[in-house]
Amino acid sequence: MTPSSSTPTRRVGPDKGAEGKPAASTKADERPTITLPARALRTRRVAKAAPASSRVTTPRGEPRPARRRARDERELVVELRGVSKQYGPGDNGLERVTFAVRRQEMVFLVGPTGSGKSTIMRLLIKELDPSEGVVRVAGRDLSKIERKKAPYYRRNVGVVFQDFKLLPNRTVYDNVAYALQVTGASRKQIRGTLPDILRMTGLSTKLHNYPHQLSGGEQQRVAVARAFVSHPPLLLADEPTGNLDPETSIGIMQLLYRINRAGTTVMIATHDRDMVDRMRRRVIELRRGRIVRDEATGLYASEENTAELGERLREETIEAARGVLGPKR
Ligand code: ADP
Ligand code: MG
Repeated sequence: MTPSSSTPTRRVGPDKGAEGKPAASTKADERPTITLPARALRTRRVAKAAPASSRVTTPRGEPRPARRRARDERELVVELRGVSKQYGPGDNGLERVTFAVRRQEMVFLVGPTGSGKSTIMRLLIKELDPSEGVVRVAGRDLSKIERKKAPYYRRNVGVVFQDFKLLPNRTVYDNVAYALQVTGASRKQIRGTLPDILRMTGLSTKLHNYPHQLSGGEQQRVAVARAFVSHPPLLLADEPTGNLDPETSIGIMQLLYRINRAGTTVMIATHDRDMVDRMRRRVIELRRGRIVRDEATGLYASEENTAELGERLREETIEAARGVLGPKR
């Protein structure tokens, strides 16, 4: 598994790429999504063939075999194609938003309050349906999932919120264990899994504490542990550092970074643009429901380990606070 081999295509504005993809399920229980004849797809894609330098060709400049392209598409964990969401007449949450996120990417959704970040998150957990367009997760068209089956679908997506949303009457251990219980894990499996995740999130000494006995940062660590304990292919975090101070925020970002490096695709919505620019990962910026920026910000940072990332963020946060760097690098 090489994260660097999955560098995504960056696009701003309406997408012109491969619409109508075949079933891209990787799990046995996932049903096929759109079923177009393979031949029709092939013809269409070849007709749209990009220049020889593009990534749809082999190093020799030959078109990639169809099988390889199909595999590339299975790498797409999140896909929004022409997605609009109207909450009411003239109340546009999103307008024709198109982007794709590959396996193991870490993507930041940024933009001011009301720009549509949470709307995207809520579409991805099928809490909302789009007014127009297609939302796919791991190749699966979410409109094909019956609403009553949405809770089962959601087990494949870890979610972290700004306000933690922990169960107040349960301990740290039980909050995290609960996320496994609902997937049908046995007590034994839970006992075997939890120590690792609690160690990873730095909660080993707080197992028996209740949420109100924890700091904000610790509560958010519990929320992250709960979201990640079943190792979902996709983890969404909506303003995860919104209630935290800068130092605590760095810790949470380090944790999400670590989860990403362990193989989970991570999408983080935040309005903290400075922090995001320092992370040097892909940034999708929204304004009034539209994408206005989609760029890979210095992917070389993938060479960093979690401790180095934290150290750099800390130094840059201090320097930025001193006004040495200004608001943006
Ligand atoms: P963000 O998370 O970036 O702050 P949202 O996705 O929550 O933005 O909201 C985007 C826009 O969608 C808002 O400006 C608002 O007008 C609209 N919106 C969001 N949620 C609702 C809702 N429940 N009812 C009506 N309009 C909504
Ligand atoms: Mg929001």
